[in-house]
Amino acid sequence: MISKSKQKEIEKYVNSSKKYYSKIFNQNEEIDTKLYILNREEAKKIWGKNLPIWVYQFYNKKGMIIINDIPKEKLNSKDLKIGIYHEMCHNFYFKLLGTYLPQWVDEGLANYLANYKFKDKTFMKFISDYKKDFPKQDYLKIAKKYYKLSEKDWLDNNKTREFYACSFLAVKKIIDQKGLNYLFNWLNKFKINPIKKNYNNKIYGLLKIIK
Ligand SMILES: [Zn+2]
Repeated sequence: MISKSKQKEIEKYVNSSKKYYSKIFNQNEEIDTKLYILNREEAKKIWGKNLPIWVYQFYNKKGMIIINDIPKEKLNSKDLKIGIYHEMCHNFYFKLLGTYLPQWVDEGLANYLANYKFKDKTFMKFISDYKKDFPKQDYLKIAKKYYKLSEKDWLDNNKTREFYACSFLAVKKIIDQKGLNYLFNWLNKFKINPIKKNYNNKIYGLLKIIK
């Protein structure tokens, strides 16, 4: 269960994360965020019946959903903050583009701007373990497979592991080599026509410059 004081803390991070992202996304912080603290059954109605057991928070068109069965060890201030900042990134992404696609960019960016920037130890261990297991992979090439995950994909541990790790590593590679502005310009082009055909031709074309 999430206590009243933890709820207050969550609200505090919702507000501070808006300030953080309004600068990065160059958008008004007045952005509307509906926050729902729900039990798992209620959350399932929003996600769909196959809500993975390891998901404790997510963002969708309805707003930010926090599931009240978060384990105690994840309710410390740092994890709470990173979790909220992560979900808030999805909010700003959607407000900017009107879509959560391509899903690897949405997820990679949230992991970069929240989990990586705020030094989420669990996440960075997850990434270094992945790199140890697959040292010679082209992370960008793999990430691009994840345009949109199906409900089935979310239940496949190997797929979600690959999805989270490669999305982050690919986004990090783009930002390291080209900068965050490059990524945002690229996303703005995507905004004009976020259909898959356009994504494959025009948008992938931009990525070819990244070695
Ligand atoms: Zn996410």
